[in-house]
Formats: sequence, C-alpha cells, structure tokens
Amino acid sequence: MQSEPDRLFSQATFLASAGTLQEFPTDGVPEVAFVGRSNVGKSSAINALVGRRRLAFSSKAPGRTQTVNFYDLGEAARLVDLPGYGFARVSKAVRNVWDRLVGDYFSAGRPLAGVVVLMDARHPLTPNDEQLLGWLNTFELRQLAVLTKSDKLSRAEGNVVLARTRQKLKAGSEEVILFSSSNGAGVEQVRELLWRWVAADAATGK
Ligand code: GDP
Repeated sequence: MQSEPDRLFSQATFLASAGTLQEFPTDGVPEVAFVGRSNVGKSSAINALVGRRRLAFSSKAPGRTQTVNFYDLGEAARLVDLPGYGFARVSKAVRNVWDRLVGDYFSAGRPLAGVVVLMDARHPLTPNDEQLLGWLNTFELRQLAVLTKSDKLSRAEGNVVLARTRQKLKAGSEEVILFSSSNGAGVEQVRELLWRWVAADAATGK
C-alpha cells in the first residue's frame, strides 16, 4: 500500500507557468517552493519526488524566459518551481527578472508551507546560496536544505558534508537531507517531511 506522502506526490499535475505576479494562482492552496542555483538538479529532484520523468523541465539556456511553475498535488498542496539563479554570465536584465519574480513570490503573502533550498552536495553553501539563505531567513519560513547529486560522493564524504552543512545552518537532522534523483537517495525522506509541513498547516487552518 502507498504511504500518505507517496500518495500525495503521485497525484502531481502541471497547473500553470507564471511570468509575473499577476499570473500567480490566488486560490490559497498551500505551497512548497523549490529554489536553487541553475543546474543544481532542481527539475530532476521535482521529477524524482513526483515519480515522473518529465513533469518539471529545466531551462538550460541562460537568458531563457524565466517563469514560476506550479504543480498541483491533488487539491491538498502545490509544488512551486522557482527560476534558478546564479548563471555566471547572465545579463543584468535577466538578473532583474529573477529578482523581481522571486522577490514578488516571497513578498506576496503566498500560502507557503515552506521552502526547499537545493544545493549541490559536492559544494553546498556557495556565496550565492548563502546570500539566498540569509534573505529567506527574513521570512520565517520552514526550510529544508536538499543536497543534490549525492550519488557523486562516497558515503563517508556524504556524511561529512551533511554534518558540516547542518552545523553551518544550525539545522536539525531533518532539515538537511542528502538527495539523488539518480539513485533515489533521500526521496522518501523529503516526501515525508513536506507531507508533514502541509498536514501541519491544514490542521491549524493556516
Ligand atoms: P536544474 O537546472 O536545477 O533544473 O537541473 P537539472 O535537473 O536539469 O539537472 C542538471 C544536470 O544535473 C543534468 O545534466 C542532470 O542530468 C544532472 N543531475 C540532476 N540530478 C542529478 C543527480 O541526482 N545525480 C547526478 N549524478 N546528476 C544529476
């Protein structure tokens, strides 16, 4: 039998792509936002979580139109794929669009259950990541750090990175998870935690 978290994630469907604040959905369904550097493995992580090959798609080309993509998990919750940041050579115009879209998203009083910050397990907490985390801290949201591509590290290396990242973020063991969309590491753990965030908000009527 499927667990409740698995059932929630297995219901994923694409809802909408928004290029401006005005296009964000307004029906109040609880959201979990995903944010991270371009190429960190965000689309792959979303696809692994929902058990689909190509629900989320990566925007490979720097400068390509940036959008916020919304995926429904039934009627209970929504995943929100925010545009990736940190291309080395993006134009100022592209950076401005990112700042505005992501800034609008977090400032608009969305019904946010929490935010998932994806970082590469081989080198988490880059200066860009640190800047993003510092800024997110001002919003008092539940946060989960997902360390992607953990299949590229040995078990021992992974454990070192995990301990170091938890220490740096002053985070509990639940809030930093080693993840790999290639071998499925961390998938169940992330589903379980996000399911609990959504369930907790539903219970308090947030
Ligand atoms: P995004 O730009 O953050 O959405 O990143 P993608 O999901 O498109 O992934 C970027 C690149 O990293 C692609 O070449 C993926 O195949 C690769 N990738 C993503 N996740 C993993 C993973 O868990 N392990 C490994 N080894 N490669 C991955």
